[in-house]
Amino acid sequence: MKKNRRRKSPRDGEYQELDVSRLKMSIPHIEQKRGGEFQVQQTNGASAEEGKSWICPVCVVTIAPGTIHTVAWDVHRGVQTRRHFHNHCWKIFDGILP
Ligand SMILES: [Zn+2]
Repeated sequence: MKKNRRRKSPRDGEYQELDVSRLKMSIPHIEQKRGGEFQVQQTNGASAEEGKSWICPVCVVTIAPGTIHTVAWDVHRGVQTRRHFHNHCWKIFDGILP
């Protein structure tokens, strides 16, 4: 009986999905690339000002507000080197920040 009730509850699934996407998105970590060490974090831009968007330095295309994307900066050169990348662009990025 209890199992049936859990499976039917839409809130369970909802909660789990939310949790997974948060995990995927928000764990900051260090990545090493050819150009050095980078502090990397993913964001959906939700905390940004309304209407704010970014130009990805790899493909020079605007990242639309609400898109989950990668924010990275050179840990040695400092947070002023912070850039916003499409997730796939960050993967191919060779590690030299403009
Ligand atoms: Zn890009």
